Amino acid sequence: MVLNLDGYERKVDYWMRLFSVFTGYVEHRKYLGWKEYLPFYRFECHKHGEVIDYRHSHNQRLECPKCRKDE
Ligand SMILES: [Zn+2]
Repeated sequence: MVLNLDGYERKVDYWMRLFSVFTGYVEHRKYLGWKEYLPFYRFECHKHGEVIDYRHSHNQRLECPKCRKDE
């Protein structure tokens, strides 16, 4: 098991990567304690600019992690 400095395992789905221009897909990540890899997406936050996050299970929406931290 290889963890990078941010503490997650990384996997790229090349099929999803093909459509990244439209979806913003970056890579799959599995953080410590996660059971599975989840796709991460790049998107614009009106406050913080470009950020990366995954779809949260409760509403499947992308939320800016920096805004979340501010709350
Ligand atoms: Zn933000």
